[in-house]
Order: sequence, then C-alpha cells, then structure tokens
Amino acid sequence: MRYKAVFWDIDDTLLDYIPCCREAFFAAMNELRDKHYVPDSLLSEDELFDLFFRISGRLFSEAKHGLHTIAEVMELYPAEFIASAGYPDEAVEPFKHAFRTAWGKTHTLVPGAREALEALRGKGYRLFAASNSFGHLQRSRLRHADILHYFEDTFISMDIGYDKPDIRFYQESLRRAGLQPHEVVMIGDSMTTDILGAQAAGIDALFFDRRNNASLPEIIKCLLD
Ligand SMILES: [Mg+2]
Repeated sequence: MRYKAVFWDIDDTLLDYIPCCREAFFAAMNELRDKHYVPDSLLSEDELFDLFFRISGRLFSEAKHGLHTIAEVMELYPAEFIASAGYPDEAVEPFKHAFRTAWGKTHTLVPGAREALEALRGKGYRLFAASNSFGHLQRSRLRHADILHYFEDTFISMDIGYDKPDIRFYQESLRRAGLQPHEVVMIGDSMTTDILGAQAAGIDALFFDRRNNASLPEIIKCLLD
C-alpha cells in the first residue's frame, strides 16, 4: 500500500451539505415562528433559504481565501441573513442557536460514503476526518450518520486552531496522528481547502469532483489495489 492513512473532508465529501443545510435552516425558521419573529420581507421560506444559502456560501468562500476565519463566518452568516431577510436584530441569537442545534443532528450521507469507508478500513488504512467547523458538531453529525466509529480521530479546525487550507492545519493533524506527509492521502471536494491545502503540506490528495458526477467508489479505487 502506498499510503498508511486517509484524511477525509466531511461536507460534500461524506455528508451531503445542501440537504443538511436545508434541514437545519427550516428547524431554525420554526424556532423563529414559535418565538413570533416575522420578517418584513415578502419572501417565501424557500426564497429565504436561497438567500441564506447565498450569504453563507459567499462567506465560506471568502474564508477559503483567508478573508475570515471559520469561527468568524459562523457568527457572520446568521447575523447577515437575519438583517437581509428583514427580521429584528433580537432574532439573530435564537436563529443561530436553533440552526446549530439542528445542524449537529444533520447526517444525510453522500452516496457511497459508508461503502468507501468500509472498503478502506477493510484494507487496513487508518482513517481520520479533516474538516473546517466546530469539533463537537461535526462529531455529532458523524455519530448520527453512524460513521464516527470508522475514524481513529477527528481533526476539526476549531479544535486544531487553524482552518484548511492553512498548512498548519495539516501539520498539526499529521502531528496528532503521528504520520509523515507521504504516508497520507487527503480526499475532499474543495480544490482550495482540500487539494491545494494538503499538497502545500506535502500530502497527496484525491479530488472528489461532485459537480461532475464523480463517485466515491471510483475515487477510492486507486487505494484498493
Ligand atoms: Mg467539503
């Protein structure tokens, strides 16, 4: 075997980001309704979701290029959404809290994810998660998806102290795993954070190009020979 270990991105690699995001968003909307917060816009809830998704997408994309930390983005997008949707400022905290609580339980798997983890574990690879987010939320989601047990450890940016693609995220993850860069391959869907980030740290990477219909079983085939 060429590698000893596989680092896995989580969102849009193992867990399907959009359905998870929708689920948490509508749970947060229910919370706002229960608390009698109403927006002064005439947008439908689906249109509000589109607005939320655009705002969070832009902020996460800016974070990939170093404009914000992930911790900052986690504070910025609820506030920006609440203001843009025309809710009162007091709705920010209830929205954020309800979204995060629901997010920690979202666990829609990307097709083939469990099979890929099973196949790699069967082959003897050490498996680690490597994701930008809150550690407790990502572990909770993996647990709800019943795939947490595949991972020897989880390297999540808020625990590690650096966000991908910062080379220090990868260096600290390697240190915690007791591995050298050439012993690891990173699998992820983001060219910036997963592929170029890992390569800058001397780690080989496999790009999971979901937009072009790549499949996980195909991607990992080269690791099973
Ligand atoms: Mg991802």
